[in-house]
Amino acid sequence: MYFDPRSVDVVADQIIGGRRVPGAERREVPSPSDRRIVREISWASPDQVDEAVTTARRVWRDSGWGTTAPRERAALLYRWADLVEAHAEEIARLESLVSARVYPEVMARDAKVVSGVLRYFGEFADKIDGSVTPTTKDSLSFTVHEPHGVVAAIAPWNFPIILAAWKFAPALAAGNAVVLKPSELTPFATARIAELAVEAGLPAGLFNVVHGDGAVGATLVKHPGVDYVTFTGSSATGARIMADAALSGLKPVSLELGGKGPQLVFADAPDLERLAAMVARGITYNAGQVCFAGSRLVIERSIADSFLDKVKGHMAGGQAGETWADGTTVPPIINDSQLDRIDGIVRDAIADGAQAVCGAKRVDREASGFFTPTILRGVTTENRAYREEIFGPVLAVQEFDDVDEGVALADHPDYGLTASVHTADINKAFRAAQAIESGTVWINDWGRRTDFTAPFGGYKRSGLGKDMGRAGYEKYTKTKAIWLELA
Ligand code: NAD
Repeated sequence: MYFDPRSVDVVADQIIGGRRVPGAERREVPSPSDRRIVREISWASPDQVDEAVTTARRVWRDSGWGTTAPRERAALLYRWADLVEAHAEEIARLESLVSARVYPEVMARDAKVVSGVLRYFGEFADKIDGSVTPTTKDSLSFTVHEPHGVVAAIAPWNFPIILAAWKFAPALAAGNAVVLKPSELTPFATARIAELAVEAGLPAGLFNVVHGDGAVGATLVKHPGVDYVTFTGSSATGARIMADAALSGLKPVSLELGGKGPQLVFADAPDLERLAAMVARGITYNAGQVCFAGSRLVIERSIADSFLDKVKGHMAGGQAGETWADGTTVPPIINDSQLDRIDGIVRDAIADGAQAVCGAKRVDREASGFFTPTILRGVTTENRAYREEIFGPVLAVQEFDDVDEGVALADHPDYGLTASVHTADINKAFRAAQAIESGTVWINDWGRRTDFTAPFGGYKRSGLGKDMGRAGYEKYTKTKAIWLELA
C-alpha cells in the first residue's frame, strides 16, 4: 500500500481570500476505491459564491495584477510550481484518495504536469505582443492584450488537478483573477494547490476555490461579476453553461467537452502487434475514464479477426484495485451511477445486435466497482455504443472495406475531440487526417501529449476553444485596438 487512505488529512473548506472558509453545508465524499472511506467537504451557499467572486474582483483591482509586469507574475507562478513539486506526495494522496487516479501515476505524472503547466504559462506571460497596425502620417494604431478580469473555471473529476491547472495557470499568468469549482467528487487536491498559491506569494484572493455540485457551478457561471467562463466536462453540461453564460451577460466561454475518439486502422498499418497494444491501452487507460479515449475501433475488414484477437489479448491481465494499492493498474469506476450507466449502455448495445468479444461484465466488490475491458463488435451507427460517450473501458468496433468508408465511419456526427489514423501510407494518413473533423488527429499514435505546446480542444459537440499551447493562453486575454491621433 502506497499510503493509508484513513490517515490522509483533507482541506474540507473552500479557499476564499486565501483563507479556509467553511461552506454552508457539509457533504460526504466517498472514495471510489473503498466507499466506506468517506471525507467531508463543505459546499458554498449562493452568498459564498458571491463572496468568492467579489473577493476575486477586489483583489484583482487592488493588487493591479492585470497590469503587473509579466515577469513578476511569472516569478510567482514559478515559485508556486516549486511548492507544488515539494508537496507532490501530499497532493498525490489527496488526488488518489477520492479520484480514480492511481497513486504512482499521479506522483510520476499529474503533479508534475501541474508544476509544468504553471512554468509553461509563466513563460508565456511576457511573450504575447500586441502589434502596430497600419498607420498614417497623422495617426498610430496598435493593439494590446488585456486580461478579462474574473475568470470562472469549472473542472471535472477524471484528471482533477491537471484539468484545473490547464485553466488556472494560463488565466492567472495572463493577468486575471480566478474562481474555480472543482468537481464535487474530487475537490481536495485542488483546494490544497490553491493554498500553496498564497504561500508562493500570489495576492490572497486572486485564486479562490468554491465547492459544490452543478447548482453551485451554475450560480458561479451566472454571477454578474464573472467576465469569462472556462469549463471542462460533459457536452450536456457544456451546452447548459454556454446558455447560462449567454443569458447572464453574454460572457465568452471556452468548453472542453466529451469525446468518442476513433482508432482508424488500415490493413497496411505498421507493426500490428504494437498497435493492438496501443488500441487496448487507448480504451483501458484510467478504466476508459478519459475524454480522449480511443473508444471506437474502425478497422479494415480483412484484418479485423486477427487484430481483435490481439487487442483482446492485450486487454487481459490488468490488476484492478484501490488507487493506493501496490500493483493496481486498473482503477475503479468513479461511482455507482457511472457504473450503472456503462453497464446499461453495454446491455442496450448487445440487445441491439452488437456482439461482446470479451468483457461486458460489471464487477461489484464489497466497497467499489469495476467494469471488465470490453470489445463490442458489429456496432451500428444507431447503436448507443456508437452514439454516446461511455466513459468506461468499452471499445465499439466497426469494419470497412475501402478508404472512404473507413474515413466516413471514423468521422463521428457529434463528437470530434481526438482521432487516430494508423497506416504506413502517408498519403492515406494525411487524407484521413484532413477529412476527419476533430480537434486533434494522431497519425500512427494515440494519446501523445508529452509537452504543453499543442492546443487541445474539440470540434462539434466536443467543445469550443482550446486549452494549452498559445491558444490556451491567448483566450484569457482580449485584444484592444488603440488609435493615437498625431496631428
Ligand atoms: P460533468 O459535466 O458532469 O461535470 C463537470 C463539472 O461541471 C463538475 O464540476 C460539475 O459539478 C459541474 N457542473 C455540472 N452541472 C453544471 C451546471 N449546470 N453549471 C455549472 N457547472 C456544472 O462532467 P464530469 O462527469 O465531471 O466529467 C466527465 C466529462 O468531462 C466527460 O464527458 C469527459 O469527456 C469530459 N472531459 C473533457 C475533457 C476535454 O479536455 N475535452 C477532459 C476531461 C473530461
